[in-house]
Amino acid sequence: MHRTVKDIQKAFSSDRTTADDTLRWALGTFGDRIGIASSFGAEDVVLIDMAVKINPAVRIFTLDTGRLHQETYDVMDKIRERYSINIEVCFPDKHKVQEMVEEHGVNSFYQSPELRRLCCGVRKIEPLLAKLKELDAWVCGLRQEQAVTRTDIKKIAFDPLNNILKINPIDDWTESDVWDYIRENNVPYNALHDRDYPSIGCAPCTRAIQSTEDIRAGRWWWEDPAKKECGLHGRTK
Ligand code: SF4
Repeated sequence: MHRTVKDIQKAFSSDRTTADDTLRWALGTFGDRIGIASSFGAEDVVLIDMAVKINPAVRIFTLDTGRLHQETYDVMDKIRERYSINIEVCFPDKHKVQEMVEEHGVNSFYQSPELRRLCCGVRKIEPLLAKLKELDAWVCGLRQEQAVTRTDIKKIAFDPLNNILKINPIDDWTESDVWDYIRENNVPYNALHDRDYPSIGCAPCTRAIQSTEDIRAGRWWWEDPAKKECGLHGRTK
């Protein structure tokens, strides 16, 4: 990255506060050195729709852990067709997956937090870090109200470990804002959202929630709510 964080904060003046302004500024500033990270949840499809309208050649990448729901693959293809875009798919290292599965079993993540983190590390974190090496900035659909672990999310954050800027254009959106956007713009979305899955990750680690539960209660539901992030967003928010 050629700019310092100070330069970037200066360039991103305080009057650019909407999601569209943030995204427009980020895509214009970083060109093909910025990518949108997408797991094709509601927030991600909003960002894709917004970004493609700003720059049809925007880079979009996803992590295919090998354990996703069929509905996630379905919406991935729908998005690809709807916007005529390429999606960069990042896969885990097959040797590491094989080693983990042979040593600990195919569903080892239920056995302990350590084995769950090992699986997220092999299937998600390592492929993500490899992709981030190609970029100066990445865009995420994190929102402050999503979970107790996300209340301090900002529109722009710097990750010194990976020397990369993280852009969260819809950090201050509510769930209603997200769904209003999807309906108004007729954006394809994951069918699981209509079956009480507000947050969607890998199939064995995601369940539907009750109306009284936190919107991320269905992710790694067997773990402590204050600690259950997969690590993708642990370094900087
Ligand atoms: S969410 Fe579950 S299946 Fe997916 S990488 Fe993490 S532990 Fe593995």
